[in-house]
This record gives sequence, structure tokens and C-alpha cells, in this order.
Amino acid sequence: MSRLPKDPVVTRLPYEPPTIIAHKNGLANKFGGQSARRSLPRIEGVPVAELVERFGSPLFVFSEHTLRRTYREVHRAFSLRYPKVQLAWSYKTNYLDAVCRVFHDEGAWAEVVSEVEYDMARRNGVPGSQILFNGPYKPEPALRVAIEEGAHIHIDHHDELYTVEKIAKELGRKLPVTLRINMDTGIQPRWDRFGFNFDNGEALTAIRRLHTGGHLVLEGLHAHIGTFMLDPQAYARGTAKLAELALAAKRDTGVAVKTIDLGGGLPSRATLHGQYGPGADSKPPVDDYAEAITGALLAAGFPQDELPTLLLESGRALVDEAGFMIASVVANKRLANGTRAVIVDAGVNVLFTSFWYRHDVLPAEDHGGMLEEAVVYGPLCMNIDVVRPSVLLPPLEAGDAVVFRPVGAYNVTQSMQFIRLRPAIVMIGENKQVDLIRRSEHLDDLKGPELLPERLRP
Ligand SMILES: *Cc1c(COP(=O)(O)O)cnc(C)c1O
Repeated sequence: MSRLPKDPVVTRLPYEPPTIIAHKNGLANKFGGQSARRSLPRIEGVPVAELVERFGSPLFVFSEHTLRRTYREVHRAFSLRYPKVQLAWSYKTNYLDAVCRVFHDEGAWAEVVSEVEYDMARRNGVPGSQILFNGPYKPEPALRVAIEEGAHIHIDHHDELYTVEKIAKELGRKLPVTLRINMDTGIQPRWDRFGFNFDNGEALTAIRRLHTGGHLVLEGLHAHIGTFMLDPQAYARGTAKLAELALAAKRDTGVAVKTIDLGGGLPSRATLHGQYGPGADSKPPVDDYAEAITGALLAAGFPQDELPTLLLESGRALVDEAGFMIASVVANKRLANGTRAVIVDAGVNVLFTSFWYRHDVLPAEDHGGMLEEAVVYGPLCMNIDVVRPSVLLPPLEAGDAVVFRPVGAYNVTQSMQFIRLRPAIVMIGENKQVDLIRRSEHLDDLKGPELLPERLRP
């Protein structure tokens, strides 16, 4: 009692009348409607308002803490169950140097699918021997550099096999190679455009062809069975087939396969457009995938001293949750049919995954008032620029910040300068310091490579 100030200041919250909201199609499902009011005033402890003030809007924000935590979770889930595990960071998922270096610092190798990604990994200090080179098109000069530097070449088709064999012949030494394999793992659509098919015998034929050529040695087998795979059993089937192929290759050629690579494809906690409820609820835990893959490997019958190293090239599962997009409300509108529309300053040019994901849209600050269904449009003068077709939002005013999440996977690498230039990107470090890791673009970034013919100059 003695501590009470003489004149206690009592602030009364403004009265808010109760509201009834009709459940509309697209909002309600068997889990009910989204009724809880949610906002996100801070990211990793840093106020959203402060981030906007310092770096502008829109703004991509990455959490170093989440990157490291997620990497360790995935690595641990597999390493608990299998003695030889190596993760290789999928560059195309997000090749910001700062992001890649966090993963390399955690021990990740690099997985690249083009010569430019290969060069990025080398610049990030990754030695060739820790680069997995995938993809259907590796130009011959790029193959030569990668082979020279000891990278792991994942052969996609017979033409590439021919080229790599030719290079081996010229170099006069036997080159280790990995074959990419595709197969029926029970999921649709089946990804059979990359690599050699297991089920029709093409893969084993390619292995025999490779062996009898005398210039290449089969080092590994690789499969990337799809992306955002919600069924761990598909991986169990894929792993069993790769292991069966590896053992058949050993019987045929006498050479034991050293690595089995299950690619990427683990889902993130994002919600897909077709899903009921939040995606985080329907996503199996990473342990289920680890169990499926390592269980199949351990049961395959490899002699103990020939247990292959398990390689994984997880992309979106490692980075998605670590990425946020802060955007600002530009305007509120009523469409002719009465629908509420909110226009924000980040569109599908920088949030490409809006086409597949139902991102969380969280106001930085909830000023109260009734939740109402709204369509969220980006700033582009283009009909397809819809970042959320339907979401419940409280009243928002022009200038209010909203946060989209998770956006760490594929948005930065697939962003484009369509109508607008690309925004700045910051990373929040473990001790909450905020660093600019990519400045916002200038007109010169867009126009720099262009050349104007003399006759069109003034
Ligand atoms: C894209 C890709 C990955 C990463 O895929 P995610 O679904 O993001 O995990 C891994 N390996 C290969 C060969 C890829 O093309």
C-alpha cells in the first residue's frame, strides 16, 4: 500500500463492442475460423517500427538465430539415427551470402545447380570437394572447372555422361561421379524429368555403361523426389530404391557406392493454399523424415564397412521460417462487390511464394476494431499481384506495417525488378544487432547492363 503513488493514474481501455462475424467460404473450415487476434510488433526482439524507420519499407528480414536453430534441428534429427550425415545447402533456395555463410559456418557443404551458383559457393570459401553440382545443364567449361577443383558431379542424362567421360579421357584419370536417379515413390506428380529412371532399368544400364567405359567410377547415387513433400514414407521408398540400386551396382561392378543423396524437399512450416488449418499443424516433424530415410538405409543390407554417407540437400525447410517481409499499407479500398481490399508495398515480384503459400499476414500493431476479411494486393499495376486472396485483418491505416511470414525460401532468389526495384534485406544477429546484408536497389542496378545504339542517342 505504501508504494502506491499519491494520485494513481488509471487508464481505461476504450470500450470495444462485441462483434459477430459471419463465417465466409474460404475462411472457415473444420478447424473453425481464424478468430484469435494476432500481431507481430517485434522480430527477434527488434521492433518492426524501428526496422522500418532505419531501413525503409518493404524490407526482408532474416533471423540468424532461426537459421542456426533450424539447421541444428535437422542435422541432429538425422545424425542421431545414422553415423555418417552431411548436409549441403541448396543455393537456389536462398543464395544471399550472409545466409549461405551462416549455414557453411554450421558445417554445410554447398549444393549448386548452375555455374553461377558454383562460383557463388567458391566465393563463399567452399572448396570444390564440398560442392555438389546438380542440374540438367552444366556447360562443358563449367564442368571442367568443377572437375578440376574436385567437385561432386551429379550426372543428369546420357549426354552429360558422354561429356564427363570425354573430359576424363583427356585428363587421363578416372573420375568419380554421382548419378541422379528418378523413381516412383508413390507420390504425384512423379518427378521423372531429372536423372535416370530406376523403375524401367535405365539407371542400372547407365551404371553398367559408366563402368565399362573405364574412365568413370560410380561414387554416389542421388535423388530429389519432389518439393514440400508431406509424406515421409515417400522418402522411405526412395531410399530403399537407391540402396537397392547401390547394392546391385556393387554386385555388377564390384565398386561400392560411397554416398547416397536424398536431395531436398522437406516441407517448411508454411501453409499451402489448399491446406486446412495452419501448415505447421499438418507438417510431419523432421524426425519422421529422418526415421524414414535412415531406417531404410540401415535396413538395406550394406556391409558395415561399406555404409554409405547420407547426403541431404534440404532447402526450404532450413530457411523459410527465418525469413520475414515487412510491408506497409498503401491504401484501403472497397471493391465494387463490397470486398475489403488492402494494398501493401510488397507484391508478387518480391513474394513469389504467394502463388503457393498462404503466408501469415500480421499487423505490427493491432489498433483494435473488428476483424474483417480482406484481399491483400501488392503495389504492381498487374491483376495477378495478389499476396493473400483472403485473410482476416483488423482495421489498418495507410502507413501501418504488416509482416508476412514465412518467406525465407525462394522469394529472394526468384524476386525480380518488375515494375519496382527490389528492397533492402537485413539480418538480425544472435545478439540482436541488425546488419544490412543487401541494400535496396537503384535505377542503375536495373539499367547498368543496357547499351543504347548510337543512332538512338540524342
Ligand atoms: C531445389 C533443390 C533442392 C532443395 O529443395 P527444397 O525442396 O527447397 O528442399 C535440393 N536438391 C536439388 C537437386 C534441387 O533442385
